[in-house]
Amino acid sequence: AALERIAKVDDTIHAFLHIDGEGALAAARRVDQRRAAGEALGPLAGVPLALKDVLATRGMPTTCGSRILEGWQAPYDATVVTRLRAADVVLLGKVNMDEFAMGSSTENSAYGPTRNPWDTTRIPGGSSGGSAAAVAAFEAPLAIGTDTGGSIRQPAAVCGLVGVKPTYGAVSRYGLVAFSSSLDQAGPLARTVGDAALLHAAIAGHDALDSTSVDVPVPPVVAAAARRDVRGMRVGVVRELSGDGYDPGVRAAFAAAVETLTELGAEIVEVSCPHFTYAMPAYYLIAPSECSSNLARFDAMRFGLRLGDDGQAGAEEVMSRTREAGFGPEVKRRIILGTYALSSGYYDAYYGQAQKVRTLISRDFAAAYEQVDVLISPTTPTPAFPIGAKVDDPVAMYLSDLCTIPSNLAGGPAMSLPVGLADGLPVGLQIMAPTFADDRLYRVGGALEA
Ligand code: GLN
Repeated sequence: AALERIAKVDDTIHAFLHIDGEGALAAARRVDQRRAAGEALGPLAGVPLALKDVLATRGMPTTCGSRILEGWQAPYDATVVTRLRAADVVLLGKVNMDEFAMGSSTENSAYGPTRNPWDTTRIPGGSSGGSAAAVAAFEAPLAIGTDTGGSIRQPAAVCGLVGVKPTYGAVSRYGLVAFSSSLDQAGPLARTVGDAALLHAAIAGHDALDSTSVDVPVPPVVAAAARRDVRGMRVGVVRELSGDGYDPGVRAAFAAAVETLTELGAEIVEVSCPHFTYAMPAYYLIAPSECSSNLARFDAMRFGLRLGDDGQAGAEEVMSRTREAGFGPEVKRRIILGTYALSSGYYDAYYGQAQKVRTLISRDFAAAYEQVDVLISPTTPTPAFPIGAKVDDPVAMYLSDLCTIPSNLAGGPAMSLPVGLADGLPVGLQIMAPTFADDRLYRVGGALEA
């Protein structure tokens, strides 16, 4: 059914970069046979899933939405993929994304934009726009995205889905092509809080192959989602993440969600996180700095594209011709920004300063969680915007992640879930929790959804 749906709608939506029809059917048949033979099956046996094209996947291309990796196949599976296969998930294929996960609209893909199923003239969010669109268009019930500054939560919000960035270190980054290693985290996109919890539980857990993976038990996210009760919980509304600059429809849906939480017995407290105002500028120094280092590996020698190698040209010329043609404008902008911010004489003024701001943001969270159990805000300042509206204005595009970036900088988990419509377009509520208290997101989300 998923493959039929893809065949029917994906010419318009363009969520998929690679469809593995035969592989998916074979995997589904194996599950059927094993079920018939009475064998034990994984927790997501037979459930189709769309995988963001940034995770190394054996037997399929992994492009990261970039020309530089066109046709490249990973020789191994990312740990997330290994765990999905162990859960008996049926992988449908790889889905579209902003190039190397840099963007908020999926318009930075080298393979053309994905369209929002709610209104195909609008963006599906990004960078995990293919993941969100695939689920919203009923091409797949589940998808994996990755979130460095908001790339799971923002597309979830503008496509009317549940999306979760787990605690940094909770899900292995082994085989996740790095954009900004200290921020990147893979997580679930789904139509319900319960579905997201099942996928979260399937991919989380310690992995010796990732040195930043943390060895703590996976919090009880599935049970928390099923609890459907928030009585007595203290919920903090972040003063700095609302007000001017937010779409009136977003503000109205957010206010209604706060009202619902009160009716359900939660205690609402207004909380101030004064340094959140500096999260955006700090992020746009730290993420490009790490990107400039991580993307140095695409040197025309090791992976994918290789141009200008006529037997005469030197390595530097081959490298520069390949990177010139292989990377898109946003990726180049970030590499230049990051190289500048890390260069001698500027390091202390930019990168060093941004790291100090990062510490202050973590302290704001710590102080807030002395008063409340979770924090909430709108996920995005506006609903989905029209395709093309912000492509020529990087700073306007960057503002899409105003509310989501603080959790990436501090490492805590955060969820977006749908809380209504503004002019017919979905609006998301963001819930944030302390590190390794991911279950609190699911408890609040499950109660609101009910
Ligand atoms: N939109 C942000 C950026 O462009 C976040 C991207 C992400 O989370 N991968 O960097």
